[in-house]
Amino acid sequence: MAKAGVAKCTFCNANRPLTKEHIFRQSWKNHFGKSTHNIHEWGWQRDDSGQAVHDSRSYRKVGFEQTVKAFCGRCNNGWMNDLEQEAGNLVLALAKGEDRNLTPEDLATITRWAAKTAFVVETTLKANQTSREDQYIDLQQGKVPARFHFWMYPVIANPFVKTRSTPIGLTDRGPYRSIVEDEWRLTSILFYQVHMLSIHSSNEKMDDLLAVLNIPRICGNPVSTRHDGWTWPPAQPTPAFLTDEMHSLVVNYISGRLREAGMEAWNPPAS
Ligand SMILES: [Zn+2]
Repeated sequence: MAKAGVAKCTFCNANRPLTKEHIFRQSWKNHFGKSTHNIHEWGWQRDDSGQAVHDSRSYRKVGFEQTVKAFCGRCNNGWMNDLEQEAGNLVLALAKGEDRNLTPEDLATITRWAAKTAFVVETTLKANQTSREDQYIDLQQGKVPARFHFWMYPVIANPFVKTRSTPIGLTDRGPYRSIVEDEWRLTSILFYQVHMLSIHSSNEKMDDLLAVLNIPRICGNPVSTRHDGWTWPPAQPTPAFLTDEMHSLVVNYISGRLREAGMEAWNPPAS
């Protein structure tokens, strides 16, 4: 019989007592203060039976106090904490809008942090996970996870720290029936002066399909193509409200391109 408080850790699958993980490090409060913000989450999620259900919720959050209880102490205090230590100063510099010459190693570290955060955010939603065990193992081994695509944009100084996570899947119509169980998830992390945008997929077939959609046409080149490093910030920063627009644009772009190709994407409701 399972002991009270013992459950499966999302990341390592072990039955251990779960601990509270902060989505954004609590100590970052010392840099930015106790800002509160409204979160409006919308999109289609899948419930346990695999049905697509519409989810729309609004609530108020205090930045740096949002926690999730889905990971064991060994993960939380082990590799997850190591990654926070490793990436912390880099992510903080981006959030503060500092000029940096980011090396390829820095970019890989930031990408791993964004992947870990995107997967953690996923566990806060009433939905099936899009990320998979092999991607968690990649992270634990210090690698950028497979099937994780990542972009970054500078943002004008603003009071926001927030995340948004939207699944994009296919219905069971059309010629792509074999991959209907799979989906992409688009995650936005707006952390003051940086917008991190990522797409992760549940299997390689979705990645092949993603490549056909020519995402760089609207998102620009992904961070993984910066083999010689990256001078940050790379361009004029955009206003914070445009990060939401960008997120919606990518969802609608993917859905539109799939429809053009004869596939039916889950229609996201208008934001
Ligand atoms: Zn664990």
